[in-house]
Amino acid sequence: MAQNYDAIVIGGGHNGLVTAAYLGRAGRKVLVLERRELLGGCCITEEVWPGYRVSTAAYVNSLLRPEIIRELDLAKHGFEMIPRSPSSFTPFPDGRSLLMGPDAALTQREIAKFSTKDAENYPKYEAMLTRVADFLEPLLTQTPPNPWGGVRDLMQLGKLAWKFRKLGRAIGADAIDIMTGAAKPILDRWFESDQLKSTIATDAVIGAFASPSMPGTAYVLFHHVMGECNGVRGVWGYVRGGMGQISESIASAARSYGVEIRTNAEVGHILTRDGRAIGVALKDGTEFTAPRIASCADANITFLKLMNENELPAEFVQGIRKIDYSSATVKINVALSEPPQFTALPGRGIGPQHHGTMHICPSMDYIERAYDEAKYGKPSTNPMLECTMATALDSSLAPPGKHIMSMFIQYAPYHLVGTTWEAEKEKFADRCFDIMNEYAPNFKQSVLERQIIPPPEMERMWGITGGNIMQGVMNLNSMFSLRPIAGFAKYRTPIRGLYLCGAAAHPGGGVMGAAGMNAAREILRDG
Ligand SMILES: Cc1cc2nc3c(=O)[nH]c(=O)nc-3n(C[C@H](O)[C@H](O)[C@H](O)COP(=O)(O)OP(=O)(O)OC[C@H]3O[C@@H](n4cnc5c(N)ncnc54)[C@H](O)[C@@H]3O)c2cc1C
Repeated sequence: MAQNYDAIVIGGGHNGLVTAAYLGRAGRKVLVLERRELLGGCCITEEVWPGYRVSTAAYVNSLLRPEIIRELDLAKHGFEMIPRSPSSFTPFPDGRSLLMGPDAALTQREIAKFSTKDAENYPKYEAMLTRVADFLEPLLTQTPPNPWGGVRDLMQLGKLAWKFRKLGRAIGADAIDIMTGAAKPILDRWFESDQLKSTIATDAVIGAFASPSMPGTAYVLFHHVMGECNGVRGVWGYVRGGMGQISESIASAARSYGVEIRTNAEVGHILTRDGRAIGVALKDGTEFTAPRIASCADANITFLKLMNENELPAEFVQGIRKIDYSSATVKINVALSEPPQFTALPGRGIGPQHHGTMHICPSMDYIERAYDEAKYGKPSTNPMLECTMATALDSSLAPPGKHIMSMFIQYAPYHLVGTTWEAEKEKFADRCFDIMNEYAPNFKQSVLERQIIPPPEMERMWGITGGNIMQGVMNLNSMFSLRPIAGFAKYRTPIRGLYLCGAAAHPGGGVMGAAGMNAAREILRDG
């Protein structure tokens, strides 16, 4: 006899857990089924080596919606942010370096080392982003209108147009530029220092298979300034205990509302009858029934792996097939015997250079060249490295005196030409370590362990198609009313009772929880 629930959530990613928690809070009997042995999807902490607790995938947080933190009382369930100040450090080959944020005076002083004009412009640039964010941020927690829908949708679109109009012509044009354009020309207009531009540009390409001169990257840049840390906008922080603590705290909140969570429970098939979802069958054949099924797995998995295509409209299947899952990032997690000692900012212990993201990305051309190779199916010879060492601020993550470093690296395409990741990954990691050593000569000798995760491995470990970290690219043509595909952005699908609740849906990737929260609202609206 199949067990019966009011709702079943496929996938215990943080978004799935948020959906489950909100449904549980509303009194529904909810079951979460997670494929892996641990919860969190791409928002996890894993003990990779004894005593080292590593945020193997996502490594910094700012996007998690404050209303979720508040409404689910996540602090009570163990969620705590650790702000980073400074938040970024970029060493350059000429021995200079740039520290940035959130301390405005420090940032201006540091930028002035490269350009006094840029130092003056930087607060104005931030103010422009803040005004655009004021317009865009409320959209994150809205259900997108369907431009091809009814009167209510048109009224919602009208309200949006009115709000946009109120931005004024100049900021309105900036907003369009940010939503559609490339990061490089925008940065070129604002700044002259290549060092500042390349540091900022890392956020424009992170996780995207694109260079800063390609349209769409300005939005990726912007996506990274929309969050907050303990109420301070645009600030990224560590999570005490690692990113998995976000997922654990949401799971704990969900359990407090009576939600049942099962791990090692891989769904093999979504059960339907007469165009309506009625339950799921696990890979081992166990069945559970519910009139509402929400999937936190990506759209490719949900519709093309867990369902038979002939259960779905052909046009819908075609749309899902068109989703872009390209990816070009490798994650290397490293255990270190000591912090890197940068030639550009020497010192043996923990210093300000270790608090935030350590960028190895010396110029705009460096990023463009790194991308050029990847576009022809080759890992970059000189990749961009984005390194964080959470143990600088949270010593609980490693044995005393030891450290963990997360290296998020691009470009490294999923599909390599003439070789495989199995053959390349150790060489690629060696190359990344050589580059790091040029800036911090003690680095290589301090490496105790390493875990290399190229895109196909990300796909296998975390169940993300193509290794795309956002469950599908974050271009304007796949955002808002067009995510996952046009006409289906309201979390509902062509199958009645089946919903998407993960990053595949609006507002997309990042540890935001917004998709999960919005989906829960729509599910409850349907009764
Ligand atoms: C390497 C990497 C680095 C990142 N860095 C950051 C960062 O620093 N900050 C940030 O904000 N974002 C970051 N991101 C993006 C962010 O982590 C993701 O966009 C976000 O976690 C997606 O959450 P989700 O809950 O929507 O989906 P996912 O985390 O993808 O969860 C989906 C869940 O569904 C499960 N599942 C799939 N199929 C089945 C099935 N058949 N049965 C049962 N369960 C199933 C999966 O195992 C998984 O647990 C990063 C992502 C990666 C991969």
